[in-house]
Amino acid sequence: IHAKVVIAAPGRVGAYWLREQARNLGVGPAFGPLDIGVRVEFPAELYQSIERVMYDAKLRVRTATYDDMVRTFCTNPRGFVVREDHENFVLVNGHAENKRKSDNTNFALLVHMELTDPVEDTTQYGRAVAQLASTIGGGQPILQRLKDLQQGRRSTAERIRRLPIQPTLTDATPGDISMALPQRIVVDLLEAIERLNRVIPGLSADSTLIYAPEIKFYDTRYAIRAGMETDLTGFYVAGDASGHSRGIVFSAVTGIYAARHIMTRAGK
Ligand SMILES: Cc1cc2nc3c(=O)[nH]c(=O)nc-3n(C[C@H](O)[C@H](O)[C@H](O)COP(=O)(O)OP(=O)(O)OC[C@H]3O[C@@H](n4cnc5c(N)ncnc54)[C@H](O)[C@@H]3O)c2cc1C
Repeated sequence: IHAKVVIAAPGRVGAYWLREQARNLGVGPAFGPLDIGVRVEFPAELYQSIERVMYDAKLRVRTATYDDMVRTFCTNPRGFVVREDHENFVLVNGHAENKRKSDNTNFALLVHMELTDPVEDTTQYGRAVAQLASTIGGGQPILQRLKDLQQGRRSTAERIRRLPIQPTLTDATPGDISMALPQRIVVDLLEAIERLNRVIPGLSADSTLIYAPEIKFYDTRYAIRAGMETDLTGFYVAGDASGHSRGIVFSAVTGIYAARHIMTRAGK
């Protein structure tokens, strides 16, 4: 692309591609933290009392063993777990619909990770975990009931079928998440679920469904000047790929911010 001004906003799916393009232009992003974990699905009734107060409550837990921060994110009351296809791996996510409702509620449960020397590249780390999980899942997300994860055995299609709760994502392989995610993350997640059970009674039931992996790649964060402009004059980044937004609203804001800056400089 030859242009006086470029805004690059390829989203999470294009963040890795942008990283390579930016490097070729001499614009190096800094490595930030990474959020890695699972999607938890349970009967919608369990979340009802919280939902009345806050549709998408953000709950944070500091874990006992590793002193890590685990948080809930993107809660979808009566929603659906969905798969998110990437070029070399598959992730899970969740959404809720206006008209169609399920009997389940889901949220992401994510461990906040920062890497230090010599492995600072959180993007590579996250992609390696995602690829391993996709291999274990045969190209599909892994689904496990909580009891099996706690007891260190894989879930089977038969055990999932017998559960009182029906998974909303059927396109997932019953398996063993502890084969796919690092042990520290699994311990963090299990401890967090136990603690969250105090505010969402029933969450730590045997039949709670766990899907993996869910990873948020907003770890590549560009140094920016006013108006989302990088160190390379005329090269702007916006949206989730910039590392400065994590959702629809702030993605839009960063795009508007860049556009206004360009217009002002052009004297318009
Ligand atoms: C299932 C799901 C549920 C979500 N729920 C919520 C929610 O409830 N609330 C919330 O705030 N956020 C939610 N999000 C996140 C939200 O969608 C993103 O934060 C937001 O869309 C980011 O906007 P963006 O413009 O940066 O990127 P995107 O919306 O991802 O747009 C980037 C575009 O660039 C294109 N692209 C990528 N690479 C290239 C390339 N090389 N060349 C040309 N085009 C390219 C992509 O195809 C895409 O169309 C959800 C995301 C998912 C996947």
